[in-house]
Amino acid sequence: MVKMVRLFLVFFIVIFMNAGEFDKVFNNFDNTFSNSSTSIKKKLHKDIRDVYVKTSIDKNIQDKKEVLKRLIHSSKSLGYNYIGYENELKSLGDNYNSYLNYISKKNILDDVKKPVDKEKILLSQKPTKKPDSLKKQQSVKKEPIATKKKETPVKNNNTKKELPSLDKKRSDKNSKLMLLGVKKISGGVELKFNRTVDDSEIKKFALKGNIYRNILDIKAGNYSKVSKIENHAVEEIRIAQFDKDTTRVVFSQKGKFNISFSLKENLINIVASGKASAKTATPKKNIKPKLIVIDPGHGGKDPGATVGKLKEKDIALKIAKNLGNELSLRGYKILYTRNTDKFIPLRSRTAFANKKNADLFVSIHMNAGPNTKKGKTLSGVETFFLSPARSERSKNAAALENKGDISDMNFFSKQTYLNFLNREKIIASNKVAIDVQKHMLNRVSKKYSMKDGGVREAPFWVLVGATMPAILVECGYVTNSHDSKVIVQSKYQKDVALGIADGIDIYFSKNR
Ligand SMILES: [Zn+2]
Repeated sequence: MVKMVRLFLVFFIVIFMNAGEFDKVFNNFDNTFSNSSTSIKKKLHKDIRDVYVKTSIDKNIQDKKEVLKRLIHSSKSLGYNYIGYENELKSLGDNYNSYLNYISKKNILDDVKKPVDKEKILLSQKPTKKPDSLKKQQSVKKEPIATKKKETPVKNNNTKKELPSLDKKRSDKNSKLMLLGVKKISGGVELKFNRTVDDSEIKKFALKGNIYRNILDIKAGNYSKVSKIENHAVEEIRIAQFDKDTTRVVFSQKGKFNISFSLKENLINIVASGKASAKTATPKKNIKPKLIVIDPGHGGKDPGATVGKLKEKDIALKIAKNLGNELSLRGYKILYTRNTDKFIPLRSRTAFANKKNADLFVSIHMNAGPNTKKGKTLSGVETFFLSPARSERSKNAAALENKGDISDMNFFSKQTYLNFLNREKIIASNKVAIDVQKHMLNRVSKKYSMKDGGVREAPFWVLVGATMPAILVECGYVTNSHDSKVIVQSKYQKDVALGIADGIDIYFSKNR
């Protein structure tokens, strides 16, 4: 009996704890969303999406209903597709109107009872706005700390430029980004901007030659007085306005080396690494390069999606190799599940990544629509991460990719599959997928008119069992007349790989 009581107690405690888990997020959303700027709305939408992923894994129906209502709300406001969420909510026996009723009642109550909340709303709208007096205090405080650290002030070339005042809308991507200052740090430089920098405003690439150049292009105006630093980290670092919208930072020296950068609000730190020449380099110690396993889809007897002579396995291999080359240039360690045209069972692919203890698993594919009129209109690039399927489109892609090897189907019984669903891994995979999709589009959406198929969740067998974050990238539809002409171009195969590499790079710079 005592045992029973104890069991019940544990049971209730567990229920009680879970029930409140997302209340904070929901409350914050309810209080701030409607009064927020677009960029904050997007952030709130993302927070809610994270909760959605969690509730999907936990199978918590009540939280799921609540999160779906808010997802519909934010999607509608931001012009995103919400039909899938609406259908899912209906299938759980609830509807969006109940949320509208709830929120309007809540607002009336809040207005009457808690005028303080209004201030909270305003504050959260402009999170970084501080009274001027406070700002001054902080800048005064910072001075002695900087000198203590012996951060050598950099020589300036005395260009006379009006320094713009600090932009108050720091997180607003629409306000012009300005480079205000450059400071030497160990192994590289720190760039200071007028507002928070978004990773989509940065592009990184390298130019090989007698002199090796690693370059960071930032969509910003250059108001820094520093234009050149010599013999610090590398032979030369140059900072200049490259064109109207771009500030270019170039690290150069003889011999191959890499740079890596990290973003923290309005600061970008750029540090040289790799085989820089011994004289000038300050090599970073104890930083193991990330290992990425690249998995070109299909191969050998399994051609993947096929239209005429066009075979998914061939294009996937080319893009995968471009991706591997680019990532190793950027200092990553790369392994392939295949680098020739050979058949590999799905389960061996992640097993390989697990055995090698990889930090990321990236599977490269081309998609195909169902053989109908509507199927032929499907087009664009998509990034998937493993999760129970949501939409028709996800199910279609998953069914297609899962066809590869029938023997895998039995191996991945439903139970095994569920065992592998690990919450942290799914959230990490979701994050990689978001970065990859965003940066892939940066490179190909305008240049090749490739559509944004979005970040999607689907049950791909090839991702099941990976013990590290894992994504599957569909780089275009072989069945679509526009896409099929694009994906065969070697230029596209390079650019799309560059975009995927950008996304991976950004992900790791944020999640070390
Ligand atoms: Zn495929």
